[in-house]
Amino acid sequence: EEVILALDKRIKDVDSDINAYISYDTKKAIKMANELEVKNETNLTGVPVALKDNIVSYQDKTTAASKILSNYVGTYNATVVKRMLDAGIIPYGKSNMDEFAMGSSNENSSYKSVSNPFDLDRIPGGSSGGAAAMVAAKEAFIALGSDTGGSVRQPAALSGVVGLKPTYGRVSRYGLMSFGSSLDQIGILARNTMDIASLLEVIAGYDELDATSSTKKVDKYSELLDKDIKGLVVGLPEEYFTKDLNEDIRNNINEAIKLLESKGVIFKKINLKHTKYAISTYYIISSAEAASNLSRYDGVRYGVRQSNETVEDMYVKTRSLGFGKEVKRRIMIGNYVLCSGFYDAYYKKASQVRRLIKQDFVSAFSEVDLILTPTSPFIAFKKGEKVNPIDMYLSDIYTVSISLAGLPAISVPSGMVDNMPVGIQLIGNYFREDLILNFANQYE
Ligand code: GLN
Repeated sequence: EEVILALDKRIKDVDSDINAYISYDTKKAIKMANELEVKNETNLTGVPVALKDNIVSYQDKTTAASKILSNYVGTYNATVVKRMLDAGIIPYGKSNMDEFAMGSSNENSSYKSVSNPFDLDRIPGGSSGGAAAMVAAKEAFIALGSDTGGSVRQPAALSGVVGLKPTYGRVSRYGLMSFGSSLDQIGILARNTMDIASLLEVIAGYDELDATSSTKKVDKYSELLDKDIKGLVVGLPEEYFTKDLNEDIRNNINEAIKLLESKGVIFKKINLKHTKYAISTYYIISSAEAASNLSRYDGVRYGVRQSNETVEDMYVKTRSLGFGKEVKRRIMIGNYVLCSGFYDAYYKKASQVRRLIKQDFVSAFSEVDLILTPTSPFIAFKKGEKVNPIDMYLSDIYTVSISLAGLPAISVPSGMVDNMPVGIQLIGNYFREDLILNFANQYE
């Protein structure tokens, strides 16, 4: 109760500037905390954790920052929420985001866009920008986000917090509103790797409600953070250190590399040859899946229904008024690449290239233990600065390949450039969350 009240106060003090929360219910959270039946005690028992507004929780508004779901109230708990409650972790508040998690800046929210706590005129990153900003502004200790192409890692980097995207299938997606089902993964944003490790061991693991969840055993990540990283071999992919990378960020990473070398880490140049196709491949596959997933928002089953005239009129008005511009763009791209005349040229080709991208990583991991890259090519930009969608899509240049391959990766704060935080990304082999968390903890 005491902790929830402290957060409530902090939210009231700062959130009118930051807009990180879409909703929160202090009374309900306190009631839950007092009535909780803790089944398994953990490091985080008693700690409130915020949910991204696309993670369904019972009797809480869950809108995905979309007008179409502005009246939707969860009728069940997502598996991650259920597991948190069993461990005595209290879901508290829903974070602002880009509508249906489509975006890299939070400017696609149907609510007020989120501000970066380091500079209120700048974006916090996206799509889990609310989650990153609330952790950075100390309005939350830990926040769950979702990462389809970088949405946990990129905002973590731009807002100066730690952000983990687990291996695809490590955490159940049951109750996460689907965007690109073959890419979506629930991730964690926090101020340190210990908090991330402690929450991951609670929420990870097989779930019969998600057919893609893995049966692989969950490690005790929080107990594996102190291992010596001396002698580990870390790959530096040449394709990630090109002229698109901001010069100061490059220097910042060189410093990080020097520091790690002094701890006995061995660096090695590697190649991920198909990197240049990653953005186009990602936007074809994720949009195709989004077009299909979002067809359920038709005014019949969920959310705000517009018009009761004819069925067609209802569909058209509900979707035209309910979805924002970027979501409509993705639905159009998705239906275009899936339509019969273009399917082979776009969707099928993208699926083939996806396999090549994955193969690059599989080969790389036969030579190295981890891969280190920048998380974002630039620091947080000013709101309104990127008007062209292609420029916005390029923000994801260092994160989407990992999502296409289904690998785990973490972004860790790595100092400041021009008074704004930057992050480095550590990519691990499948299900090596233990190693990336351990390495990140030693770097921290
Ligand atoms: N920025 C990317 C997009 O707009 C990634 C989003 C995400 O990971 N949810 O699709």
